[in-house]
Amino acid sequence: LGRRIPEPAQRDELQLLTVTINELLSRLERLFVTQQRFVADVSHELRTPLTAMQGNLEILDRGTCPDPALLKEVIGDMRRETARLIRMVNDLLLLAQSETHVVLRHEPVELDTLLLEVFRELRPLAGQVRLRIGAEDQILVYGDRDRIKQALLNLGVNALQYTPPGGLVILSLERYEQFACLSVADTGVGISEEARAHIFERFYRVDRSRSRHSGGAGLGLSIVKWVAEAHGGYVTVASEVGRGSTFAIYLPLPEANPVPVTEVEAGN
Ligand code: ADP
Repeated sequence: LGRRIPEPAQRDELQLLTVTINELLSRLERLFVTQQRFVADVSHELRTPLTAMQGNLEILDRGTCPDPALLKEVIGDMRRETARLIRMVNDLLLLAQSETHVVLRHEPVELDTLLLEVFRELRPLAGQVRLRIGAEDQILVYGDRDRIKQALLNLGVNALQYTPPGGLVILSLERYEQFACLSVADTGVGISEEARAHIFERFYRVDRSRSRHSGGAGLGLSIVKWVAEAHGGYVTVASEVGRGSTFAIYLPLPEANPVPVTEVEAGN
């Protein structure tokens, strides 16, 4: 790495070819560095819950029967860590797919029904946060239902996670010119302008210790971004520290995108 072919002095085809090859080498080098960082991040993220589980197993393996309260706590911890590992591995699988040009399904998706489904799945997680749904329109788009749902769930789980008890989270669906807009608004902690520039990056978390405690690995929003863009759409975020955040996924309406760009995956 780092080596380049010396450019010939003359401005001819050979020189152009060398420039192209050198550019390719630079791109490969950047990819390699990104990949290396990714593997390091993944290993680090997987090691944390595994180490916690190992500690808990040691407590259970001390020979004497621990008192029931401790036992309950240890098992609860292990359950949470396992759930975190499963979520992380699922996220990683999805991200790996995003890099291998996986073909998205191209099926009709009724967004109002989908939003209601997401609302119902989020309800048990809401605790003391009020969760509302404001879907008025019936909107149909073409795309990959499961992936759009996962993106929305990620936004919903985040909103609930970063909103203190008594706060409010609203899921809505609207039509904006050539796009359907699915949004998740919360009255939570908000995100600073500086952090907003990074939240869609993999493994980025504003407050590492807090997020670790609540189970995130910093992958959720990178998946949301990928899903939106893979559908020809985009994601936006508006936020104010201490007041809350609104994330929105824009997906092209069929009128705006009449020709199917991807086919249904074979065997699916
Ligand atoms: P995580 O798994 O940590 O939630 P995400 O990629 O989903 O990872 O989010 C990245 C970071 O963005 C989070 O760690 C959190 O700091 C911040 N964030 C995401 N959603 C919200 C929200 N609704 N309110 C405040 N901060 C948020």
